[in-house]
Amino acid sequence: MVKTLEVYAMATDPIYIGTGGYNIGRVDNTIVRDPITNIPKIPGSSLAGTWRYYVVLEALKDLKGKQPSFDKIKNQSGNTIAEKLKNYNWNNSQPNGWKGFVGNQILKISCAGQDDAPQLERDDENNTGHCGHCIVCKGFGFSKKDISWQGMIFFSDLNILFFPVFTMKGTKWITTASILKEIKINESLPEENKIKTKNGNEGHLNLGWLYLEVSGSHNINDSQISNFSIKSEDIIIVSESLFSHIVNSNLEVRTSVSIDPITGAAKEGALFTSEAIPRGTIFYGSIRIFNKEFGELDSKIEPLPTADDLEQALKDSAHYYESLGIGGMTTRGFGRLKIQLINGNSQTGGSQDEQPNQ
Ligand SMILES: [Zn+2]
Repeated sequence: MVKTLEVYAMATDPIYIGTGGYNIGRVDNTIVRDPITNIPKIPGSSLAGTWRYYVVLEALKDLKGKQPSFDKIKNQSGNTIAEKLKNYNWNNSQPNGWKGFVGNQILKISCAGQDDAPQLERDDENNTGHCGHCIVCKGFGFSKKDISWQGMIFFSDLNILFFPVFTMKGTKWITTASILKEIKINESLPEENKIKTKNGNEGHLNLGWLYLEVSGSHNINDSQISNFSIKSEDIIIVSESLFSHIVNSNLEVRTSVSIDPITGAAKEGALFTSEAIPRGTIFYGSIRIFNKEFGELDSKIEPLPTADDLEQALKDSAHYYESLGIGGMTTRGFGRLKIQLINGNSQTGGSQDEQPNQ
């Protein structure tokens, strides 16, 4: 069975997810873009990495002080760590719901982030990396010398749904007919190089520094976009080619100074510019949770968390995006998101065509 969650996110800060490379162009630090459309996005891998960390933080809030020492686990009956974990008695201190999952006795902060001991076996006493037993390792995947598990949760990229631009009528959010189709709203394309507004009678309107002719009205109503904190009168439909152009010419560009970590002073000549997706941008994407038979691996990997437990874990930890954010430069006021998860359709079968988490 596959459980689908729709993800909507509003940027409450500019979002910077860098490509890592140094760029000879308009800015020094460029952001990740879709290679075909050239439109900036939040890659599913970034989402998977941060969410993994936030589920760990959320779980440890309740698990702290309740987790036994590793020696205590080792003294339980059973031949394997998995059996010992199953036989461990929490003495009435077992947390409720997904936080009490068998295996969470040894969940630790290093179950998030890069595994620093992938060359060791899962139950090696010196395993300092992903534990391979807790709900995070089983949900998001792990890879050890003796066992690899791709996980049960798959994240799509977060693409831009509505992008804010300044106009003489205030801030408006642009989108396209094909993007709207993704959220089940059918609208026709505006004529090439023209735009559609709710009223359709503005004559001309500036989007950033572009001055464009309004060629008709769209039929979006507020109830269709009730998941977002914008009104239908603030939505403008532009053509596909204009969309990429307008988004890329209205990104936030900031100039920062590199600080020398030793002297604390600005480094000479170390000014650099960074581009970012502006605050107010609304993204959409999906998360799929696979809850099905995994074949031969099953006996080694079981017990597996349920899709409902994983869904709850994601929902309970989404609030960390509002304080800790995503991407780079989060200490410079970048990266915070408000995330909303909405249950989509569950279906049987399906293919795992999304990016693996690791
Ligand atoms: Zn773990």
